[in-house]
Amino acid sequence: RFITVEGGEGAGKTTVLKRLHEALTDKGYDVLMTREPGGSIIAEKIRDVILDPEHMEMDDRTEALLYAAARRQHLMEKVLPHLQNGGIVLCDRFIDSSLVYQGGARGIGIENVRELNHFATGGFYPGKTFYFDVSPEVGLKRIGDHKGREFNRLDAESMAFHEDVRRTYLMLAEAEPGRITVINAERSEDVVFEDVLAKTLEMLAK
Ligand code: C5P
Ligand code: MG
Repeated sequence: RFITVEGGEGAGKTTVLKRLHEALTDKGYDVLMTREPGGSIIAEKIRDVILDPEHMEMDDRTEALLYAAARRQHLMEKVLPHLQNGGIVLCDRFIDSSLVYQGGARGIGIENVRELNHFATGGFYPGKTFYFDVSPEVGLKRIGDHKGREFNRLDAESMAFHEDVRRTYLMLAEAEPGRITVINAERSEDVVFEDVLAKTLEMLAK
C-alpha cells in the first residue's frame, strides 16, 4: 500500500497524484499524500539545500547523500507510521528518482546509489510505482507554460540530461515490470488520471 509516482520534469505527477488522493479519500481510504525530497520539516529543509539555484557547485555525491538523508527522515517520520496504521501512502518521487537522476543522469552509477539507499531505507521499496513517461520536449514545454512554478537547480540541465533520465527510467521499468508500471503521460490529464485510478483500485482490491 505504498504507491509512488515517478517521471521526468513536466510529466504531470503532482497534478494526477492530487486527484488520486481525492478519489481514494472519497472512497473511504485513509490516504497520506506526500512528496520527495521533503514531506517532513527536516526533509523539506534538505530539499531547499539541494534545489537552491544558487548551489550550482554542489558535488554529485553530496547531492546523492542529501537525497538519501531526506528519504530516511521522511520514511521514518511519515511513511512507515502511516503504513503501520493500515493507511495508503501516495508519494511524489521516491528511490527510483535517485537511481535515475543521481545514479544514471549524474553518472554515479545505479548500483552505487542503490547501495547508498539500502543503508538509508533498510531495503524498503514501494509496492507499486507508476512511471509517467513523456518525451523531454513535451515535459519541458509543459513546465515552460506553467507560470508561477519555482525555478530550481535542475532547470539548468541540458536536453541530453533529460533524455538520460527518461532512458534510465525505462530501463528500470523493464527490469522490474511487476513493481513499475509505465504510464503514457503524453495523453490528457483526465485520461492519465482515469488510467492510474483504475490500476490503483484494481491493485487495492487484490
Ligand atoms: O518536480 P519535483 O518537485 O519532483 O522536483 C524536484 C526536482 O528535483 C526536480 O527538478 C527533479 O528533477 C529533481 N530531483 C533530482 N533527483 C532526485 C529527485 C528529484 O534531481 N532524486
Ligand atoms: Mg511535481
